[in-house]
Amino acid sequence: MELLFLGTGGCRYCMIKQRRQTGGFILRDGDFMLAVDPGPGALVHGIRNGVDFGELDGIFVSHPHLDHEGDAEILIEGMTDGCKTDRGVLISNKDYLRSDNTSSSISTYHRQAVGEELIVEDGDEYIFENGIKLQFLEVDHKNVTTTGFKLTKNGKTFSYIPDTDMFDELPKKFEESDYMVVSCARPYSDSWKGHLGLYNVIELEEHIDPEKLFVTHLGTKFIENIDRESQIILDNGLEDTVEIAEDNKSYWLKLE
Ligand SMILES: [Zn+2]
Ligand SMILES: [Zn+2]
Repeated sequence: MELLFLGTGGCRYCMIKQRRQTGGFILRDGDFMLAVDPGPGALVHGIRNGVDFGELDGIFVSHPHLDHEGDAEILIEGMTDGCKTDRGVLISNKDYLRSDNTSSSISTYHRQAVGEELIVEDGDEYIFENGIKLQFLEVDHKNVTTTGFKLTKNGKTFSYIPDTDMFDELPKKFEESDYMVVSCARPYSDSWKGHLGLYNVIELEEHIDPEKLFVTHLGTKFIENIDRESQIILDNGLEDTVEIAEDNKSYWLKLE
């Protein structure tokens, strides 16, 4: 399975200054394609990287913050041939897809254009036609419902942990992950309410012991100190496991 980052930046100031791209990531496996947290730039950087959004099977939005959903509507247009064909699944939680929610900007027009809309709760599962299974797991991100997932194929697991605080059950929830993408807005020693820092990522790595853990959703302070953060990964002997993801780069996951 291909993991292509259309953006490895996150949070408001990194987004509005585009210190790194903010388009989230794509998972591709044969005919299967899922867009995850398409923030601003997902469309443009996807096209630049040869992605045909007409082939999307689904769009997943972890929570209604712009750096995670700014391009969701335009990707829906890509997935549905300009809203002319009912196809694909739009997956998120009630805070993004509840129609009376004032913090969510997605239009009813776009919500109705997809083949299926799925409002998920903690523990729910969804199985795509090709057998790829997603299990949705809530995390703890300030006051907004935020959902990550575990994707399984052939008994191997890829996990996505979006914006969250560290909380007691978090490592246990994402146990037995072979590959992980973790939103890490902050540097090692600078935690911030609602977001993980590199210190927390190293805690997660030690508990879960994945084959590979990709660090993404970097905030401005992380980006400005990236050499120091890379050195911390080295000093902890984690250079083979923990990788700071790069924009427009594909990584290959062995889910077989
Ligand atoms: Zn974010
Ligand atoms: Zn957020």
